[in-house]
Order: sequence, then C-alpha cells, then structure tokens
Amino acid sequence: MAAALGNSFTLTGKGYTMILILSSSTDQQGPGFRQLMNHLAGLQGITARVHTERGAEQALTEIYLIGNTKPLDIEDMQTLPCVERVVRVSEEYRILGRHKDDPRPAYFEYNGVRFGQDTLNVFAGLCAVDNPEHVELMLKALKENGQVCTRMGAYKPRTSPYAFQGHGKNCLPYVFELAGKYGIKVIAMEITHESHLNEIREALEQTGNPTGVMLQIGTRNTQNFELLKIVGRQQQFPVLLKRGFGITLDESLNAAEYLASEGNRNVVFGLRGMKTNMGDPHRNFVDFAHVPVVKRLTRMPVCIDPSHSVGTRAAAPDGILDVMHVTAQGIMAGANMVLVDFHPAPTKALVDGPQALLLKELPYFLEDVRIAREAYLERVALWENCQSA
Ligand code: PEP
Ligand code: MN
Repeated sequence: MAAALGNSFTLTGKGYTMILILSSSTDQQGPGFRQLMNHLAGLQGITARVHTERGAEQALTEIYLIGNTKPLDIEDMQTLPCVERVVRVSEEYRILGRHKDDPRPAYFEYNGVRFGQDTLNVFAGLCAVDNPEHVELMLKALKENGQVCTRMGAYKPRTSPYAFQGHGKNCLPYVFELAGKYGIKVIAMEITHESHLNEIREALEQTGNPTGVMLQIGTRNTQNFELLKIVGRQQQFPVLLKRGFGITLDESLNAAEYLASEGNRNVVFGLRGMKTNMGDPHRNFVDFAHVPVVKRLTRMPVCIDPSHSVGTRAAAPDGILDVMHVTAQGIMAGANMVLVDFHPAPTKALVDGPQALLLKELPYFLEDVRIAREAYLERVALWENCQSA
C-alpha cells in the first residue's frame, strides 16, 4: 500500500478492516439484524460499529468491523443475515477512502445539487457579508449567469482580534431570504463554533428554508477535532473541509475522516494553498497538483479555492489574472468545485477586497471555467483512447 502511494507519503494506519454493506431493506429493529449483531459480538478481538446513511428514500446501513479481521472469510461473512456485500478496506480513511472493489458512490446530492468526483460546481460570492445591498448585487449577478451556488461568509476567523469578525447571526435572515429570491440552492458558509450551527438552523427555519447551506470548516480549524465531531454528528448539512495550511495532506484527509466517522460523509475536500514563503508573491503556495491525488485516495469531490491561494489580483503578461490561471489549472486537473471571491465594490469590502473579482468579470470567469472543464473532459477521453489502443 505504502509503495503504491509514493515514498514520501507516510501511512499511519497499518491494519485492515472490513465493511459489511447491509441490504437496503434492513430493519435495525428486526430479528435478522439482531442475529447479525449477536454473531458479530461473539467474534474475538473485533468491534462492530454501525453507520446509518439516511438518504431521501431509505436508510442504508453499513457495519465497520475494527480489529483483527484477517481471519474472517469474506464468503462466510457474506452469508450472514442482512449482509449484501463485504468489502475489505485499509485502515486509512476507512469511510471516505477509495478502496479496491469498493462499490460505494463518489458523490452525494444536496438540495437538488449533485456533488461528485464527476461534477463541477462554482461557488462565487462574498468572502464576507457586509451589507444587504452587496449581497443582493452579488446574488442577482449569479442568477443572471445561471448559478445556483454561492459563498457568503458570516463568521470570519481573523488574524487580528481588532479586525472585522463578520456579522454573524445578524446577517443570516437577509442572506437566506435574498438567496431564496435569486434561486440559490447552496451557500458555502464557514462556521467556527457549535453555536453557529444552531444559529444557521434557526435562521433557516425562521425564513422558511429558502436555501441550503454547506458548512465550511476553515483551514484554521481543520484539526479542531471537537468542532469536527460536532459537525460530523449532524447530517442536515454537507461540509466543505478546507485543507490545513500547515499540516500534511494525510493529516487533513484524516480530519475529513473525523466528519465521516461521526456520521456525516457528505464531505467536499478543499485545497486552498499552503502557508510558506516559498509561494511568494502568492498569499499561499498553490497546491492544486493535489486535486488528482485526493480523488485517487478518497471518494470526496475536490474543491479548489483560487482566491485564498493567490490572494491578489495580479495578472500575467497575457493579461489573465493569476486567480484565473490557477482556477483553470485546478479544473484541468479534475477539480469538482470552485470557491471564489467576488465583490460588487472590492475597495469597500471588509475582508479580502484585494483578491476579489468584479461582477462584470463573472461571465468571463464562468466561460473560462467552461473552457478548462472542456479541456479536462477532452484530456480524459484522449487518455482513455490511448489506453484502449
Ligand atoms: C474563506 O474561505 O473565507 C477562508 C477564510 O478560507 P481559509 O479557511 O481557506 O483561509
Ligand atoms: Mn477570505
């Protein structure tokens, strides 16, 4: 396993585990399930952990067998009551990992939008909500350009305690109402505390659930394990987990696994650049070369954040902004989501104005995204032809 991943990639997990995928009709109160659990309880040195995935129509149950599963025979396990399929997986990223012969899907749907390793969604919007007028101008532009997703920061983790911290719950009602008015289905919104989750829930209820929210865990909280557990325990909202800016990829992927191990596997993994002076003059060292790596190691859709990676509106001699160049690079490598800062009046923005794209640039940005996506799909087809020749 280690060799297949490359020498510099250290694996922390050593053993293997087994997943029992139960048939979709399984009733956890029924006699078959009880019989199965009794049998598993009798296995020496093995712990069984039940994971329930609630879909729109039915609940799917999986049982993770942790411990010494080596002596267990796959064929034997397959004959147990309720068991439809048995998969042996490596310990690493048990739930979100991409394992051999693993039939579990690499996508999820939320509020009518599909997020998968095969799709591409753009989340253009405000780094930080400042006032209703700017929110409305942003959302109107998105609607005019056929967009149903956006980013709207209400809770901002800031380096300085004296910097604007975001309007928090006070802005949620108008953000959600305006999102509904302009047909927005999913808003990516960072939370930094459990109370923010409750505030978002309450504001959505009060406004009649006009939109959906994808909770964002920011790079400063990637290893805030208690926050990960809290967010992982709810299945109402999907989660965008940003890669930690100063830790290894393996550590960030394990952070994603925290969410899944607590019950929420609707996780998108976000690349946003690494903190090092080696990336200068960019704000962070752009790490979109890891798009295919994360897709290979896990079943998570991969998001790129070109704005926080690059951090400026600097342009190359060809006239194209670095933010747009790296966006195209990430998409051409197969990225599934783009989180990007726009602002109707960047000089008035309270956070990250210097890296924001302008509303008049939105249609051009989206066309550039389309070109890069086409190029990616052409590249995939080209390589398939090469392999079958
Ligand atoms: C953001 O997306 O607003 C943000 C703060 O990103 P990050 O956590 O990647 O710095
Ligand atoms: Mn920002």
